[in-house]
Amino acid sequence: MTPSSLDALYNELKVVSDLELLRDRHSLQQFSRDAYSYSPILRPLLDPCCAELVARPHDLKGVHAVAEACARHQVPLTVRGAGTGNYGQSVPLSGGVILLMGALQVVRYLDPATGAVTVESGCLMRDLDQVLRRQGRQLRLSPSTWRSATIGGFIAGGSSGIGSIRWGFLRDPGHLLGLEVITLETVSRQLRLSAAKSESLNHAYGTNGIITAVTLATAPAEEWQEVAVDCENWSTMLQLAHHYCNSALSLQLCTLLDRHIVEHLPRWCGPYAGLHRLLLLVTADALETVKQLALEARATFLHVGAESGRHSAGLRELTWNHTTLHMRAANSDWTYLQLLLPQPELAVMETLQQEWKHHLLWHLEAVRQGGATRFGAIPVVRWRGVNDLEKLMARCRELGIVIFNPHVFTVEDGGLGVVDSHQVEAKHHHDPLGLLNPGKLRGWM
Ligand code: FAD
Repeated sequence: MTPSSLDALYNELKVVSDLELLRDRHSLQQFSRDAYSYSPILRPLLDPCCAELVARPHDLKGVHAVAEACARHQVPLTVRGAGTGNYGQSVPLSGGVILLMGALQVVRYLDPATGAVTVESGCLMRDLDQVLRRQGRQLRLSPSTWRSATIGGFIAGGSSGIGSIRWGFLRDPGHLLGLEVITLETVSRQLRLSAAKSESLNHAYGTNGIITAVTLATAPAEEWQEVAVDCENWSTMLQLAHHYCNSALSLQLCTLLDRHIVEHLPRWCGPYAGLHRLLLLVTADALETVKQLALEARATFLHVGAESGRHSAGLRELTWNHTTLHMRAANSDWTYLQLLLPQPELAVMETLQQEWKHHLLWHLEAVRQGGATRFGAIPVVRWRGVNDLEKLMARCRELGIVIFNPHVFTVEDGGLGVVDSHQVEAKHHHDPLGLLNPGKLRGWM
């Protein structure tokens, strides 16, 4: 890419109606960053990366215009939702154009018979959930960033979150029912992909197609109740969490937090009592049983209230990676890992706790994996340099813990480390010039 190709691209695009173009230094920097700052390893690698042009289309015509211009002039294009990704997913490693999707936000159709919803990819998840709730439905899965994240960004960059205890992971078959995609070619095509064909774009960081609309399965709406259960010791809390997950209770969230984490969280779920804390979202009919099991375990039960009664952030914004966010607000030395714990969980957790002491604090999330309850962990880890973090990850692997490394920026390295040939094949079809988010799909490189 030369400065003249970028100038030529700019001159072509500036006459396109309903397409905003930004070239000021502040916008270029602002839209070249995401939440990778949580990783002291990614910061020095990604800080220098900067786009040369930002484009915000207000309709599909604008998306086509940008895609075609980038193909003609061989300029890299990185798609961006709200930029809340944690691994530099929307950081333009090779500069070029950032495509902001936030103005494409129409909820196109809610199928009354099935509850499946088709929505433009820039729609905020909170807005989508509000529309669904008016029709008696709700999102199955949401990241804790659901108020600021787009649905397209969640599909392309997210994986799980609130609801995973019930609905598993975003890549489990049945969630994503179809995609509308625009290709990056000199004559760009608009495709409608089936559920099966859409899978290769799910969690591919926008490397293999520009998603303009998403069709998703939804769930019947529930009035979730926020509950906090405080426990003196960790093993009791873990046992209680298992008990809740294995009982006949409707749960949408089950988060376990070390007492030293609870100490630094906002007090949205009750005062700090020096104890470990279990945070739950449950249906109203589960409250009595949750309370009874808590009291049997000599734990303290607090019904915080109905989630819908909140006017601002609620319990869900103390969980998933928001826990890390609050800990980093208290002390930016904290970073984190993302793990799937082996069963039983307690022994490996105690081993790591003994070895890393107060430099590692446990935070667990109950998830459904392969039809069974498992515990994912997002421990906060005190940053003591690359070697220390690598030593910790090596020790985790030794103990049979699966790591989803949040300190890397390729699709594969953040996942199971293997190339998904379907993702690469989709890139051949939708981005034959290899211009979409270059450097992120190892299988293509
Ligand atoms: P972006 O960050 O803008 O984009 C993410 C990726 O998707 C990028 O690679 C981008 O290029 C691509 N992309 C975006 N839109 C499109 C499109 N239309 N077409 C093609 N590609 C596209 N994630 C979870 O999964 N679960 C959590 O619980 C969770 N909690 C978080 C908490 C905090 C505090 C933070 C900082 C992050 C968290 N995340 C979580 C990560 C992130 O917030 C979510 O994955 C979110 O859904 C990303 O949406 P976004 O609109 O910000 O996407």
